[in-house]
Amino acid sequence: MTIKTRFAPSPTGHLHVGNIRTALHNWMFAQKEGGTFLLRLDDTDAERSKEEYVNAIRADLAWLGLASDEEQRQSDRFDRYEEQRMKLKADGRVYPAYETAQELDLKRKIQLGRGKPPIYDRAALTLTSDEIAAFEAEGRKPHWRFKLDHGTPITWTDRIRGDQNFDPALLSDPVIRRENGSWLYMLPSAIDDIDMGITHVVRGEDHVANTAVQIQMFHALGAKEPEFAHEALLVGTEGKLSKRLGSLGVSSFREKHIEPQAIVALLARIGTSDPVEPIADVQQLIASFDFSRFGRAPARFDDEELAQLNQKIVHLLDYEDVKSRLPEAMDAESWAVIRPNLHDMGDVGQWWKVVTGPIILPEISAEDKEFLSAAHGTLEGLEASDDLWKQLTGALKEATGRKGKPLFMPLRQALTGLDHGPDMNSLLLLIGRDIALARLATASS
Ligand code: GLU
Repeated sequence: MTIKTRFAPSPTGHLHVGNIRTALHNWMFAQKEGGTFLLRLDDTDAERSKEEYVNAIRADLAWLGLASDEEQRQSDRFDRYEEQRMKLKADGRVYPAYETAQELDLKRKIQLGRGKPPIYDRAALTLTSDEIAAFEAEGRKPHWRFKLDHGTPITWTDRIRGDQNFDPALLSDPVIRRENGSWLYMLPSAIDDIDMGITHVVRGEDHVANTAVQIQMFHALGAKEPEFAHEALLVGTEGKLSKRLGSLGVSSFREKHIEPQAIVALLARIGTSDPVEPIADVQQLIASFDFSRFGRAPARFDDEELAQLNQKIVHLLDYEDVKSRLPEAMDAESWAVIRPNLHDMGDVGQWWKVVTGPIILPEISAEDKEFLSAAHGTLEGLEASDDLWKQLTGALKEATGRKGKPLFMPLRQALTGLDHGPDMNSLLLLIGRDIALARLATASS
């Protein structure tokens, strides 16, 4: 069997970190199994779906490296949904209902007031043809419900949650199409999963009850249900579903100079029994992907953990990975020197400026100025070479008797303007003998 997964966002907003995690897991599983990954745009809501969000979703997935093998849109498939609704109608599995939203609301309130679960009472099934004719004469249009089969218990073995059981009598017959002809999520999704050959549905556990209903839809449509994996939800460090996570997406990651590899490495592992590790090679993450490692407890998303992981990932990136984002004159050698000092890629410019100048000198004492003047003289007498820093500091140690911090710190300050930073051996090579001479001259004057 060829595995096929899908990521099915509604293009009514930007992807947030929770959606990204779901997309990632679907993609990883398909990659691992040599299957295909479908991007399905659930754009049945014509008013709220926007082309701008469709484009943003595609761009975000591309940035994360989650290429889809196929793309489908629900708005292209309304005829197909209607065709299947007619079939289900002929089989007695969908029925029209005429209650208004207010009437349904009132029913629910009464049920709740009596301590009963607010399950739809199927009053529409007992309407007489006269009553229906009266509604139609009034201009009322029906919405359509899927009739659950109360006689068949719903069970499945979830790849994450294990054996699941639902009593269909405890669920409301879901509305599948509104009065105005627009489609709700449930039925189109099941029809698509069948038509598009989806073998595994990986989504958040907020869809578990939907799955129970959809399993009966698959069967009513003459299909076998796919496998399901419902993952525990993502929560913030405060341990709750937070509003903030709901608005955290690719644009905020990019603003904070978070690398896609860091997000992928984090979201691949949080909520699983595998440790979060700085793995920049996604193939390695794919190889270890396994639903049996997913826990039932919520996955915790921690910005601090992401920032730290990001730093470690940056330290693993090759020149070729980052070349297009580096200052033009920065070569592989400069990258190798600067890379270990980066918190994130946003720091590159600052360190490159240390190489190219101009630098801003700190306050330098008269005593240090004298020392730096000696350093200038020493450097003048040395040829450019790979161990220039060693030669310079060796000679100065001899000549001045300084060692340790009093020897190194004034030099670092004079050459970089800073009291910390990349290894001076390598940095001096990037700065070059001539510029170093000029900086020492300035600092000692
Ligand atoms: N459009 C649905 C959502 O975003 C898809 C859920 C599913 O994966 O079936 O929640």
